[in-house]
Amino acid sequence: MTESRPVRVRFAPSPTGMLHIGGARTALFNWAFARSRGGTFLLRIEDTDTERNSVESLQSILDSMRWLGLDWNEGPEADGNFGPYFQSERVESYNAAMARGLTEGWLYRCFATAEELEVQREEARAAKTNWRFDARFRDLSQEEAEARHAKGERNVLRFRVPEGEDIVIKDHIRGEVKFTSNDVEDWVAVRPNGMPTYNFVCALDDSAMEISHVIRGEEHLVNTPKQILVYRALGLAEPEYAHVPLILGQDGKKLSKRTGDTALGDYISKGYPADALFNFLCLLGFSIDDKTDVFTREELLAAFDLKRISKGGALFDTDKLHWLCGDWIRRMQSPSFTAAVLPYLIDAGLVPEDASADANLQLLVAAFQERITLYSELPAQAAGMFGEMPEYDGKAQKALRADGVSDVLEAVAKAVDASAWPMEDFSATVKAVAGELDLGMGKVMKPVRAALTGTLGGPELADVVRILGKQRSLKRLQECLTVIGESLEDSAQEG
Ligand code: GLU
Repeated sequence: MTESRPVRVRFAPSPTGMLHIGGARTALFNWAFARSRGGTFLLRIEDTDTERNSVESLQSILDSMRWLGLDWNEGPEADGNFGPYFQSERVESYNAAMARGLTEGWLYRCFATAEELEVQREEARAAKTNWRFDARFRDLSQEEAEARHAKGERNVLRFRVPEGEDIVIKDHIRGEVKFTSNDVEDWVAVRPNGMPTYNFVCALDDSAMEISHVIRGEEHLVNTPKQILVYRALGLAEPEYAHVPLILGQDGKKLSKRTGDTALGDYISKGYPADALFNFLCLLGFSIDDKTDVFTREELLAAFDLKRISKGGALFDTDKLHWLCGDWIRRMQSPSFTAAVLPYLIDAGLVPEDASADANLQLLVAAFQERITLYSELPAQAAGMFGEMPEYDGKAQKALRADGVSDVLEAVAKAVDASAWPMEDFSATVKAVAGELDLGMGKVMKPVRAALTGTLGGPELADVVRILGKQRSLKRLQECLTVIGESLEDSAQEG
């Protein structure tokens, strides 16, 4: 296929809900195609369904696209010479096309009522044949049709599908997909209320906006012949097509809410790293080569080719997504990681609203960078490192109840107190205490960790002590000793 025209592609969401994972992937492939070819990526809002549109949906679509880093050259909140980019503002051009279609005869008025069509459908069902509209008003004269219309008789505009025409879609992903116009009925292009239908306006806008490649979900393949016929009626060159495969859930069926979140917004609020989700969306049907899972935007653009998108359904593999999230988090530079997790720490009340991603905080969160998969996991894991004293969880409490813990904590506190700061080698201190008390390293580390962090998991103890600083480490050890002392007294009294 030759690419003689400038590359202009579009993403055309309807603002009737949050951006879906599938929509985000379609947007991403369009963006990547445009960016890898020096082309234009435009955003067109298909807001003709006034009952279902909402400003919140539109906002969430724009926000989600920005979050993924999919910037558009033309569209809402951007410039462009092919606007308006909201279909609701393009009515004049649709009316002009309707008038042209009626004059040229590729649209005609159909007065068949919904009841009539239902009877036909019923008959077909009874006869166990496929229902096909019989185009009963196709040959009504224009004069008569206009006269009936003028009298107020309810009608739709149907597209006069030519007979016996081959419609071959040269799809960049699926190869040649052959249809014949005989498979396409005279479809409704304009509803009785004068609103044009999706297939009609999509083709009108794609042609008016000089779209060179239509890259969209496989579910639209059935619409493509209808849209091609509009191009032909208008005497225009058709765009090239690429229909991307369906996304399948873990159950092998089309991705749906049953098997997980389908709205991008849910992943954003749950703290998925944008780069990981971007990378993951790419892998839903596309691959750079046979072996590389993790790649940057630059690497994607250097390798992007519609031919590398697969025909078969793309599995939404949640385990892989989580693996990628962890991998991307580990690659982050400390300041960006801190900035990314800061809102979650603020939300959890661990740091004040006006906290900044300063060096201390960086040191603290860096100790957990290897350990989390989602930004939102950090507050729960790191809670013990904030404030003066940690809360002891069940395991920590158990560890602190073991025999001889007071001696351990006392010895470690003494060593910390006596040490220069920062401590050169905390594990040497632990080792020394273990030797002194004739205990295994674990018997020392466990209660110390419990006393310092309130939990048994977490970063290296040496890091913990360094992050807490001398005074706070000491205070935690000493106060823990007091708590242990009190509870021993309590149990003595109870006993
Ligand atoms: N508004 C349509 C949709 O959301 C656009 C389809 C297309 O890309 O042609 O599915």
